Amino acid sequence: MLIDTHCHIQFNAYKNDADEVLKRCQEKEMILNVVGSQRDTSLRAAELARRYGFIYATVGLHPIHTHETEVDEEEIKFKTREEDFDYEFYKQLVSDPKVIAIGECGFELYHVPEGMNKEKFLQKQKDIFLKQINLARELELPLVIHVRDAHEEMAQFLDEVRKGSTISGVVHCYTGNWHYAQKYLDMGLYLGFTGVITFPPKKTGPQPQADLLEVVKKIPIDKVLIETDAPYLAPQAYRGQRCEPWMVEEVAKKIAEIKGMALNDVARIANSNAKKLFKKIK
Ligand SMILES: [Zn+2]
Repeated sequence: MLIDTHCHIQFNAYKNDADEVLKRCQEKEMILNVVGSQRDTSLRAAELARRYGFIYATVGLHPIHTHETEVDEEEIKFKTREEDFDYEFYKQLVSDPKVIAIGECGFELYHVPEGMNKEKFLQKQKDIFLKQINLARELELPLVIHVRDAHEEMAQFLDEVRKGSTISGVVHCYTGNWHYAQKYLDMGLYLGFTGVITFPPKKTGPQPQADLLEVVKKIPIDKVLIETDAPYLAPQAYRGQRCEPWMVEEVAKKIAEIKGMALNDVARIANSNAKKLFKKIK
């Protein structure tokens, strides 16, 4: 049994066959944390969690939706919607026993809209992230943190925020180096790994992958979470296909290989880590 600690089964990528995908996950006796990115997808995540025993939900506002921007990448093409963080709306959603965390929230400096001042862009993300941190603190829930092209900004920001009171959470889809990994671990955060760790190094620049694998090797196993980020980032064995949560096994296998551990041990420990962080998972 595996827990996929971060997937988006409520996204349109599954609109025609979500039931079949969920059946495949159920057959493998999985637990899923379905993560929202704005109002609609948070609401849909919470609805799925209400309907299925093995599904839990995380609700929040992704930094990409704090501004309107055109996203056009290999696997992702859409126009983001600008939304503000509606504290009461999310607070209401979180009162559900199956809603286990706030997120995904954080910083995204990869998609800076054309003509936008980077400082202003980041400031708005900071304001919205802080509201979500406050909600998480108020309700004693963990954060699911998204960071892209912004580890320095995030590490500094969290350092400041932690002076108020502690935070708990996971830096999801970690793809950074050991320097920032250590900073997050020192703050008591978990790191989530996706199928990215199974990818071969890029011919044009192999260093980031080497750095990431160094993180997997060095990180204490009791700080590791495993996830897919489905429908994105299918592991290498399924590259080019739409990702599904059961593929998370590939991530566990790769961690076992790098750490020289048995797959069963990695799975067992990663599951227990997830339950330690997401206390509402039964
Ligand atoms: Zn995600």
